[in-house]
Amino acid sequence: MSEQAEIGVIGGSGFYSFLDDVTEITVETPYGPPSDSLFLGETGGRRVAFLPRHGRGHHLPPHRINYRANLWALRSVGVRQVLGPCAVGGLRPKYGPGTLVVPDQLVDRTKGRTQSYFDGEPLPDGTVPPVIHATFADPYCETGRDAALRAARGRAWEAVDGGTMCVIEGPRFSTRAESRWHAAQGWDVVGMTGHPEAVLARELGLCYASLALVTDLDAGAETGDGVSHEEVLRVFGENIARLRDVLFDAVRHLPASDARACHCDAALGGQDTGFALP
Ligand SMILES: [Zn+2]
Repeated sequence: MSEQAEIGVIGGSGFYSFLDDVTEITVETPYGPPSDSLFLGETGGRRVAFLPRHGRGHHLPPHRINYRANLWALRSVGVRQVLGPCAVGGLRPKYGPGTLVVPDQLVDRTKGRTQSYFDGEPLPDGTVPPVIHATFADPYCETGRDAALRAARGRAWEAVDGGTMCVIEGPRFSTRAESRWHAAQGWDVVGMTGHPEAVLARELGLCYASLALVTDLDAGAETGDGVSHEEVLRVFGENIARLRDVLFDAVRHLPASDARACHCDAALGGQDTGFALP
């Protein structure tokens, strides 16, 4: 039981380091190793698996993260609902540093990331997955979004309900022209890790919701020197404690995995995956 969890949180050590009785386990997947060990703990009577997205010490840049292994590893220990906190830039002046956005849409502007388990490549055991097209019109779990919004409200941190997250390849930040273009499309925040995390969760039938913490105004929305990595880390650090509080409250608001009323686990529409999910 200590090696099982029902809820996954993809985020760094700042979220779990103070929990008692954290169990560290190593998980192998058919897609190679995940970003790091899983750290399993308990909060509010719920079993949670934490996975540092960038690895401990933050050594993996966004485009080198093994997103497939990360989601697979979480599912393999029993996780069925995932919360994905991440740092983003605000594309609107009103979404300044410290704003929490719970997006309801995303736009994928990444390049060259493997974003499907059904990519035609044989698995190590020789199994060739079939061609499958996941339903992804609404990329986030509404139940997970509700849990995050309720949790933030309960901590007097009114989160932005909805909005579009643009996910860029990185690791560089946007030029001013790119940033202005993103804003002109009506998109709200820009990040580097929210995808393909979201679609891979969907392909595995996992609920997924993002909690996007604005750490800076993106280049096109501010008049200074542009975004710096130091600024992002500083603002994230300043907000880590209250983001952790919101995450843990959101975990408590999530339903039991077998009582989910959403349709996240039906995204493949009954199509045969060709392999057994963990
Ligand atoms: Zn769901």
